[in-house]
Amino acid sequence: MNRVIFRNAMVWDGSGAEAYPADVLVEGTRIRTVARTPGQLAADGAQVIDCHGRTLMPGLVEGHAHISFGGAVNDSDLGNIPPEEHVLLTMRNAKTLLDHGFTSCYSAATSKLRLDVVIRNEIEAGRLPGPRIRAGSPEITVTGGLGDERKQHMYYESFGMIADGPEEIARAVRLCCREGVDNIKINISGDDLGPKAGGGATVMREDEVRMAVAVARDFGKKINCHARAAESVKRAVRCGVDVIYHCESADEEALDMLESVKHKVFVGPAIGIIYGTLYEGEPFGFTREFAISIGMQRVLDTSRTVYTELRKRGVKALIGGDYGFAQSPQGQNARDLKHFVDLLGYSPSEALVCGTRYGGEVMGLKGELGEVKDGYIADLLLVDGDPLQDLDIMVHEKNLLVIMKDGALYKDQSAVLSASQGAVAA
Ligand SMILES: [Zn+2]
Repeated sequence: MNRVIFRNAMVWDGSGAEAYPADVLVEGTRIRTVARTPGQLAADGAQVIDCHGRTLMPGLVEGHAHISFGGAVNDSDLGNIPPEEHVLLTMRNAKTLLDHGFTSCYSAATSKLRLDVVIRNEIEAGRLPGPRIRAGSPEITVTGGLGDERKQHMYYESFGMIADGPEEIARAVRLCCREGVDNIKINISGDDLGPKAGGGATVMREDEVRMAVAVARDFGKKINCHARAAESVKRAVRCGVDVIYHCESADEEALDMLESVKHKVFVGPAIGIIYGTLYEGEPFGFTREFAISIGMQRVLDTSRTVYTELRKRGVKALIGGDYGFAQSPQGQNARDLKHFVDLLGYSPSEALVCGTRYGGEVMGLKGELGEVKDGYIADLLLVDGDPLQDLDIMVHEKNLLVIMKDGALYKDQSAVLSASQGAVAA
Protein backbone atom coordinates (compact mmCIF):
# COMPACT_ATOMS: atom_id res chain seq x y z
CA MET A 1 0.00 0.00 0.00
CA ASN A 2 1.12 3.54 -0.80
CA ARG A 3 2.53 5.15 2.41
CA VAL A 4 3.73 8.73 2.73
CA ILE A 5 4.83 10.53 5.91
CA PHE A 6 4.89 14.30 6.08
CA ARG A 7 7.40 15.18 8.81
CA ASN A 8 7.90 18.55 10.54
CA ALA A 9 4.71 20.03 9.13
CA MET A 10 2.81 22.99 10.48
CA VAL A 11 -0.69 21.57 10.11
CA TRP A 12 -3.61 23.91 9.43
CA ASP A 13 -6.29 21.28 9.63
CA GLY A 14 -9.33 22.98 8.09
CA SER A 15 -11.34 23.12 11.32
CA GLY A 16 -10.54 26.79 11.83
CA ALA A 17 -8.26 26.06 14.80
CA GLU A 18 -4.71 27.43 14.96
CA ALA A 19 -2.00 25.59 13.05
CA TYR A 20 0.13 23.19 15.08
CA PRO A 21 3.32 21.16 14.51
CA ALA A 22 2.67 17.53 13.56
CA ASP A 23 3.67 14.57 11.43
CA VAL A 24 1.03 13.12 9.13
CA LEU A 25 0.90 9.55 7.84
CA VAL A 26 -1.01 8.77 4.64
CA GLU A 27 -1.85 5.16 3.80
CA GLY A 28 -3.55 4.37 0.52
CA THR A 29 -6.08 7.07 -0.20
CA ARG A 30 -6.63 8.16 3.42
CA ILE A 31 -4.92 10.05 6.21
CA ARG A 32 -4.10 7.32 8.71
CA THR A 33 -2.67 9.38 11.58
CA VAL A 34 -2.07 13.00 12.49
CA ALA A 35 0.62 12.79 15.19
CA ARG A 36 0.92 15.93 17.28
CA THR A 37 4.11 14.63 18.84
CA PRO A 38 6.55 14.85 15.94
CA GLY A 39 8.88 11.91 15.45
CA GLN A 40 6.60 9.18 16.83
CA LEU A 41 5.58 7.74 13.43
CA ALA A 42 7.87 4.97 12.18
CA ALA A 43 8.91 5.36 8.54
CA ASP A 44 8.61 1.60 7.82
CA GLY A 45 9.32 1.92 4.14
CA ALA A 46 7.10 4.95 3.71
CA GLN A 47 8.12 7.82 1.48
CA VAL A 48 9.17 10.62 3.82
CA ILE A 49 8.56 14.26 2.94
CA ASP A 50 10.32 16.74 5.21
CA CYS A 51 8.09 19.81 5.37
CA HIS A 52 10.67 21.99 7.17
CA GLY A 53 7.90 23.68 9.16
CA ARG A 54 5.87 24.67 6.12
CA THR A 55 2.05 24.66 6.16
CA LEU A 56 0.32 21.37 5.41
CA MET A 57 -3.37 21.92 4.76
CA PRO A 58 -6.38 20.32 3.05
CA GLY A 59 -6.69 20.57 -0.73
CA LEU A 60 -8.91 23.44 -1.84
CA VAL A 61 -12.51 22.97 -2.97
CA GLU A 62 -13.83 25.26 -5.71
CA GLY A 63 -17.44 25.76 -4.63
CA HIS A 64 -18.70 27.49 -7.79
CA ALA A 65 -16.81 25.70 -10.56
CA HIS A 66 -17.44 26.29 -14.25
CA ILE A 67 -14.88 23.85 -15.61
CA SER A 68 -16.18 24.25 -19.17
CA PHE A 69 -15.93 28.07 -19.16
CA GLY A 70 -12.80 29.37 -20.81
CA GLY A 71 -12.19 33.09 -21.11
CA ALA A 72 -15.66 34.19 -22.23
CA VAL A 73 -16.20 37.92 -22.62
CA ASN A 74 -19.93 37.71 -23.26
CA ASP A 75 -22.42 35.15 -21.98
CA SER A 76 -23.03 34.16 -25.60
CA ASP A 77 -19.38 32.99 -25.84
CA LEU A 78 -20.07 30.31 -23.23
CA GLY A 79 -22.02 28.02 -25.53
CA ASN A 80 -20.61 29.19 -28.83
CA ILE A 81 -17.77 26.67 -29.11
CA PRO A 82 -17.85 23.48 -31.20
CA PRO A 83 -18.11 20.36 -29.00
CA GLU A 84 -14.68 19.02 -29.95
CA GLU A 85 -12.83 22.17 -28.89
CA HIS A 86 -15.10 22.44 -25.87
CA VAL A 87 -14.11 19.02 -24.55
CA LEU A 88 -10.43 19.87 -24.90
CA LEU A 89 -10.93 23.23 -23.20
CA THR A 90 -12.72 21.59 -20.28
CA MET A 91 -9.96 19.01 -19.99
CA ARG A 92 -7.30 21.74 -19.86
CA ASN A 93 -9.27 23.70 -17.25
CA ALA A 94 -9.55 20.62 -15.03
CA LYS A 95 -5.76 20.24 -15.05
CA THR A 96 -5.32 23.98 -14.41
CA LEU A 97 -7.54 23.73 -11.33
CA LEU A 98 -5.56 20.81 -9.89
CA ASP A 99 -2.27 22.58 -10.70
CA HIS A 100 -3.53 25.45 -8.53
CA GLY A 101 -4.35 23.31 -5.52
CA PHE A 102 -8.04 22.60 -6.17
CA THR A 103 -8.38 18.91 -5.48
CA SER A 104 -12.21 19.07 -5.62
CA CYS A 105 -14.74 21.03 -7.63
CA TYR A 106 -18.46 21.46 -6.97
CA SER A 107 -19.78 22.46 -10.38
CA ALA A 108 -22.09 25.45 -10.49
CA ALA A 109 -23.00 24.60 -14.10
CA THR A 110 -21.55 23.36 -17.35
CA SER A 111 -22.10 25.00 -20.73
CA LYS A 112 -22.92 21.78 -22.62
CA LEU A 113 -24.81 18.99 -20.93
CA ARG A 114 -22.19 16.23 -20.87
CA LEU A 115 -18.94 18.19 -20.53
CA ASP A 116 -18.54 17.99 -16.75
CA VAL A 117 -19.78 14.41 -16.81
CA VAL A 118 -17.24 13.03 -19.30
CA ILE A 119 -14.32 14.92 -17.76
CA ARG A 120 -15.36 13.71 -14.27
CA ASN A 121 -15.46 10.15 -15.57
CA GLU A 122 -12.05 10.36 -17.24
CA ILE A 123 -10.47 11.80 -14.09
CA GLU A 124 -12.10 9.14 -11.90
CA ALA A 125 -10.75 6.46 -14.23
CA GLY A 126 -7.24 7.91 -13.85
CA ARG A 127 -6.93 8.80 -17.51
CA LEU A 128 -6.80 12.60 -17.07
CA PRO A 129 -5.30 14.84 -14.37
CA GLY A 130 -7.87 16.93 -12.56
CA PRO A 131 -9.81 17.47 -9.37
CA ARG A 132 -12.57 15.28 -7.96
CA ILE A 133 -15.68 16.67 -9.64
CA ARG A 134 -19.35 16.86 -8.81
CA ALA A 135 -20.57 17.36 -12.36
CA GLY A 136 -23.04 20.16 -13.02
CA SER A 137 -25.98 20.41 -15.37
CA PRO A 138 -26.28 23.36 -17.74
CA GLU A 139 -28.09 26.35 -16.28
CA ILE A 140 -31.77 25.51 -16.58
CA THR A 141 -33.51 28.77 -17.32
CA VAL A 142 -36.84 30.17 -18.52
CA THR A 143 -37.38 31.98 -21.81
CA GLY A 144 -35.75 35.39 -21.45
CA GLY A 145 -33.73 34.35 -18.40
CA LEU A 146 -29.96 34.23 -17.90
CA GLY A 147 -28.71 31.53 -20.27
CA ASP A 148 -31.32 32.03 -23.02
CA GLU A 149 -29.13 33.41 -25.82
CA ARG A 150 -31.70 32.93 -28.60
CA LYS A 151 -32.82 35.79 -30.79
CA GLN A 152 -35.93 35.74 -32.91
CA HIS A 153 -35.15 34.59 -36.48
CA MET A 154 -31.50 33.90 -35.55
CA TYR A 155 -29.71 30.77 -34.38
CA TYR A 156 -27.47 30.80 -31.33
CA GLU A 157 -26.28 27.96 -29.18
CA SER A 158 -27.46 28.91 -25.69
CA PHE A 159 -25.34 27.78 -22.76
CA GLY A 160 -28.53 27.38 -20.78
CA MET A 161 -31.29 24.78 -21.21
CA ILE A 162 -34.50 26.70 -21.75
CA ALA A 163 -37.64 25.28 -20.15
CA ASP A 164 -40.94 26.93 -19.30
CA GLY A 165 -43.54 25.62 -16.93
CA PRO A 166 -43.21 22.77 -14.43
CA GLU A 167 -43.51 19.97 -17.02
CA GLU A 168 -40.73 21.32 -19.26
CA ILE A 169 -38.59 21.96 -16.19
CA ALA A 170 -39.18 18.38 -15.03
CA ARG A 171 -38.14 17.06 -18.45
CA ALA A 172 -34.97 19.19 -18.48
CA VAL A 173 -33.95 18.05 -14.98
CA ARG A 174 -34.65 14.39 -15.83
CA LEU A 175 -32.59 14.67 -19.02
CA CYS A 176 -29.63 16.02 -17.03
CA CYS A 177 -30.01 13.21 -14.49
CA ARG A 178 -30.17 10.61 -17.26
CA GLU A 179 -26.92 11.96 -18.69
CA GLY A 180 -25.11 11.59 -15.38
CA VAL A 181 -24.82 14.98 -13.69
CA ASP A 182 -24.42 15.23 -9.90
CA ASN A 183 -25.82 18.75 -9.44
CA ILE A 184 -28.73 20.55 -11.07
CA LYS A 185 -28.47 24.32 -11.68
CA ILE A 186 -31.46 26.62 -12.04
CA ASN A 187 -31.44 30.37 -12.72
CA ILE A 188 -34.15 31.90 -10.56
CA SER A 189 -33.09 35.52 -10.98
CA GLY A 190 -31.70 37.35 -13.99
CA ASP A 191 -28.26 38.96 -14.05
CA ASP A 192 -26.91 42.45 -14.63
CA LEU A 193 -24.02 41.26 -16.80
CA GLY A 194 -26.39 40.14 -19.55
CA PRO A 195 -28.74 42.16 -21.73
CA LYS A 196 -31.87 40.30 -20.64
CA ALA A 197 -33.59 40.08 -17.24
CA GLY A 198 -31.53 41.99 -14.67
CA GLY A 199 -30.30 40.73 -11.31
CA GLY A 200 -33.24 42.36 -9.58
CA ALA A 201 -35.75 40.30 -11.55
CA THR A 202 -37.09 36.98 -10.25
CA VAL A 203 -38.06 35.19 -13.46
CA MET A 204 -38.39 31.49 -12.63
CA ARG A 205 -41.81 30.91 -11.08
CA GLU A 206 -42.21 29.22 -7.72
CA ASP A 207 -43.99 26.20 -9.22
CA GLU A 208 -41.06 25.82 -11.64
CA VAL A 209 -38.46 26.00 -8.86
CA ARG A 210 -40.46 23.57 -6.73
CA MET A 211 -40.67 21.08 -9.61
CA ALA A 212 -36.91 21.33 -10.30
CA VAL A 213 -36.12 20.57 -6.65
CA ALA A 214 -38.63 17.70 -6.50
CA VAL A 215 -37.23 15.98 -9.60
CA ALA A 216 -33.62 16.54 -8.49
CA ARG A 217 -34.57 14.86 -5.17
CA ASP A 218 -36.24 11.96 -7.01
CA PHE A 219 -32.89 11.24 -8.67
CA GLY A 220 -30.83 11.87 -5.52
CA LYS A 221 -29.11 14.97 -6.91
CA LYS A 222 -28.16 18.27 -5.30
CA ILE A 223 -29.58 21.48 -6.68
CA ASN A 224 -28.02 24.93 -6.81
CA CYS A 225 -29.34 28.21 -8.08
CA HIS A 226 -28.50 31.65 -9.37
CA ALA A 227 -30.38 34.04 -7.07
CA ARG A 228 -29.49 37.72 -6.83
CA ALA A 229 -32.85 39.31 -5.99
CA ALA A 230 -34.28 39.04 -2.46
CA GLU A 231 -37.41 37.29 -3.76
CA SER A 232 -35.24 34.78 -5.68
CA VAL A 233 -33.39 33.90 -2.47
CA LYS A 234 -36.67 33.45 -0.57
CA ARG A 235 -38.10 31.30 -3.36
CA ALA A 236 -34.97 29.12 -3.26
CA VAL A 237 -35.23 28.64 0.52
CA ARG A 238 -38.98 27.95 0.42
CA CYS A 239 -38.51 25.30 -2.27
CA GLY A 240 -35.50 23.59 -0.64
CA VAL A 241 -32.55 24.47 -2.93
CA ASP A 242 -29.24 23.20 -1.49
CA VAL A 243 -26.77 25.88 -2.66
CA ILE A 244 -27.90 29.47 -3.20
CA TYR A 245 -25.41 31.59 -5.14
CA HIS A 246 -25.02 35.37 -5.01
CA CYS A 247 -27.80 36.52 -2.59
CA GLU A 248 -26.38 40.05 -2.47
CA SER A 249 -29.80 41.70 -2.52
CA ALA A 250 -31.10 39.62 0.39
CA ASP A 251 -33.31 41.72 2.67
CA GLU A 252 -33.92 41.13 6.38
CA GLU A 253 -36.57 38.48 5.71
CA ALA A 254 -34.30 36.65 3.25
CA LEU A 255 -31.42 36.75 5.77
CA ASP A 256 -33.69 35.28 8.46
CA MET A 257 -34.79 32.54 6.07
CA LEU A 258 -31.18 31.67 5.15
CA GLU A 259 -30.28 31.55 8.84
CA SER A 260 -33.18 29.17 9.51
CA VAL A 261 -31.69 26.61 7.06
CA LYS A 262 -28.01 27.14 7.86
CA HIS A 263 -27.59 23.52 8.99
CA LYS A 264 -28.22 22.30 5.43
CA VAL A 265 -27.87 25.17 2.94
CA PHE A 266 -24.74 26.82 1.52
CA VAL A 267 -24.41 30.28 -0.01
CA GLY A 268 -21.71 31.59 -2.35
CA PRO A 269 -21.07 35.23 -3.26
CA ALA A 270 -19.12 34.45 -6.47
CA ILE A 271 -17.23 37.66 -5.85
CA GLY A 272 -14.22 37.11 -8.15
CA ILE A 273 -16.00 38.09 -11.34
CA ILE A 274 -17.52 41.18 -9.74
CA TYR A 275 -14.05 42.33 -8.64
CA GLY A 276 -12.59 41.39 -12.03
CA THR A 277 -15.25 43.31 -13.94
CA LEU A 278 -14.81 46.42 -11.78
CA TYR A 279 -11.02 46.53 -11.60
CA GLU A 280 -9.51 44.31 -14.28
CA GLY A 281 -12.08 44.34 -17.08
CA GLU A 282 -10.64 47.21 -19.14
CA PRO A 283 -8.77 45.02 -21.69
CA PHE A 284 -12.04 43.17 -22.37
CA GLY A 285 -14.22 46.22 -22.85
CA PHE A 286 -15.41 46.63 -19.26
CA THR A 287 -14.31 50.18 -18.51
CA ARG A 288 -14.76 51.17 -14.89
CA GLU A 289 -17.55 53.55 -15.87
CA PHE A 290 -19.34 50.80 -17.75
CA ALA A 291 -18.89 48.29 -14.91
CA ILE A 292 -20.38 50.80 -12.47
CA SER A 293 -23.22 51.59 -14.88
CA ILE A 294 -24.26 47.93 -14.95
CA GLY A 295 -24.29 47.78 -11.16
CA MET A 296 -21.04 46.01 -10.32
CA GLN A 297 -20.07 48.49 -7.57
CA ARG A 298 -23.52 48.13 -6.05
CA VAL A 299 -23.21 44.33 -6.12
CA LEU A 300 -19.80 44.55 -4.42
CA ASP A 301 -21.09 46.92 -1.73
CA THR A 302 -24.26 44.95 -1.00
CA SER A 303 -22.30 41.67 -1.02
CA ARG A 304 -20.11 43.06 1.75
CA THR A 305 -23.13 44.00 3.86
CA VAL A 306 -25.00 40.76 3.25
CA TYR A 307 -22.04 38.38 3.70
CA THR A 308 -20.88 40.18 6.86
CA GLU A 309 -24.36 39.47 8.22
CA LEU A 310 -24.48 35.87 6.93
CA ARG A 311 -21.06 35.17 8.47
CA LYS A 312 -22.18 36.52 11.84
CA ARG A 313 -25.29 34.34 11.68
CA GLY A 314 -23.23 31.24 10.91
CA VAL A 315 -24.50 30.65 7.37
CA LYS A 316 -21.85 28.68 5.48
CA ALA A 317 -20.38 30.32 2.39
CA LEU A 318 -18.35 28.69 -0.37
CA ILE A 319 -15.46 30.22 -2.29
CA GLY A 320 -15.67 30.33 -6.08
CA GLY A 321 -15.93 33.55 -8.03
CA ASP A 322 -17.32 32.56 -11.43
CA TYR A 323 -13.82 31.88 -12.73
CA GLY A 324 -13.75 31.10 -16.43
CA PHE A 325 -14.53 34.54 -17.88
CA ALA A 326 -11.96 36.85 -19.47
CA GLN A 327 -11.89 39.09 -16.41
CA SER A 328 -11.82 36.09 -14.01
CA PRO A 329 -9.56 33.53 -15.70
CA GLN A 330 -9.33 29.89 -14.65
CA GLY A 331 -6.34 29.28 -12.40
CA GLN A 332 -6.93 32.41 -10.35
CA ASN A 333 -9.72 30.75 -8.38
CA ALA A 334 -7.84 30.97 -5.06
CA ARG A 335 -8.02 34.76 -5.27
CA ASP A 336 -11.50 34.35 -3.82
CA LEU A 337 -9.88 33.52 -0.45
CA LYS A 338 -8.29 36.96 -0.29
CA HIS A 339 -11.43 38.59 -1.67
CA PHE A 340 -13.37 37.07 1.25
CA VAL A 341 -10.95 38.83 3.62
CA ASP A 342 -10.44 42.14 1.79
CA LEU A 343 -13.94 42.62 0.41
CA LEU A 344 -16.32 40.63 2.62
CA GLY A 345 -14.78 40.92 6.09
CA TYR A 346 -13.80 37.28 6.76
CA SER A 347 -10.64 36.42 8.73
CA PRO A 348 -8.02 34.44 6.75
CA SER A 349 -8.87 31.32 8.77
CA GLU A 350 -12.62 31.76 8.15
CA ALA A 351 -12.00 32.21 4.41
CA LEU A 352 -9.87 29.05 4.32
CA VAL A 353 -12.59 27.08 6.13
CA CYS A 354 -14.99 28.13 3.33
CA GLY A 355 -12.46 26.77 0.81
CA THR A 356 -11.78 23.48 2.63
CA ARG A 357 -14.13 22.13 5.32
CA TYR A 358 -17.34 23.62 3.90
CA GLY A 359 -16.15 22.52 0.47
CA GLY A 360 -15.86 18.95 1.70
CA GLU A 361 -19.41 19.17 3.04
CA VAL A 362 -20.91 20.48 -0.20
CA MET A 363 -19.08 17.73 -2.10
CA GLY A 364 -21.28 15.37 -0.09
CA LEU A 365 -18.29 14.11 1.92
CA LYS A 366 -18.84 15.69 5.33
CA GLY A 367 -16.53 14.09 7.88
CA GLU A 368 -14.36 12.64 5.10
CA LEU A 369 -13.05 15.54 3.01
CA GLY A 370 -11.74 19.04 3.61
CA GLU A 371 -9.82 18.55 6.86
CA VAL A 372 -6.51 17.06 7.93
CA LYS A 373 -7.75 14.45 10.38
CA ASP A 374 -7.42 10.74 11.00
CA GLY A 375 -9.43 8.77 8.45
CA TYR A 376 -10.06 11.67 6.06
CA ILE A 377 -9.41 11.46 2.31
CA ALA A 378 -5.76 12.40 1.74
CA ASP A 379 -6.13 15.60 -0.30
CA LEU A 380 -3.24 17.73 0.96
CA LEU A 381 -1.23 20.80 0.01
CA LEU A 382 2.23 21.67 1.29
CA VAL A 383 2.49 25.43 1.01
CA ASP A 384 5.71 27.46 0.93
CA GLY A 385 4.72 30.28 3.26
CA ASP A 386 1.98 30.94 5.78
CA PRO A 387 -1.43 31.39 4.12
CA LEU A 388 -2.88 32.72 7.39
CA GLN A 389 -0.47 35.66 7.13
CA ASP A 390 -0.87 36.21 3.39
CA LEU A 391 -3.60 34.51 1.39
CA ASP A 392 -2.09 35.78 -1.86
CA ILE A 393 0.40 32.91 -1.45
CA MET A 394 -2.38 30.47 -2.37
CA VAL A 395 -2.88 31.92 -5.85
CA HIS A 396 0.56 31.13 -7.20
CA GLU A 397 1.35 27.61 -8.40
CA LYS A 398 5.00 27.86 -7.42
CA ASN A 399 4.07 28.12 -3.71
CA LEU A 400 2.30 24.77 -3.79
CA LEU A 401 5.24 22.46 -3.21
CA VAL A 402 3.17 19.31 -2.82
CA ILE A 403 -0.27 18.55 -4.21
CA MET A 404 -1.69 15.23 -3.07
CA LYS A 405 -5.08 13.96 -4.20
CA ASP A 406 -6.60 10.72 -2.93
CA GLY A 407 -3.25 9.83 -1.35
CA ALA A 408 -1.38 10.10 -4.67
CA LEU A 409 1.38 12.68 -5.12
CA TYR A 410 0.30 14.72 -8.14
CA LYS A 411 3.14 17.18 -7.57
CA ASP A 412 6.12 16.91 -5.25
CA GLN A 413 8.70 19.66 -5.19
CA SER A 414 9.44 19.26 -1.50
CA ALA A 415 13.08 18.51 -2.34
CA VAL A 416 13.44 22.21 -3.16
CA LEU A 417 13.06 22.91 0.56
CA SER A 418 16.04 20.88 1.75
CA ALA A 419 18.07 21.99 -1.27
CA SER A 420 17.38 25.65 -0.59
CA GLN A 421 18.05 25.20 3.12
CA GLY A 422 21.31 23.45 2.27
CA ALA A 423 22.22 26.35 0.02
CA VAL A 424 21.56 28.79 2.85
CA ALA A 425 23.71 26.72 5.24
CA ALA A 426 26.52 26.56 2.72
ZN1 LIG B 1 -21.56 31.01 -12.11
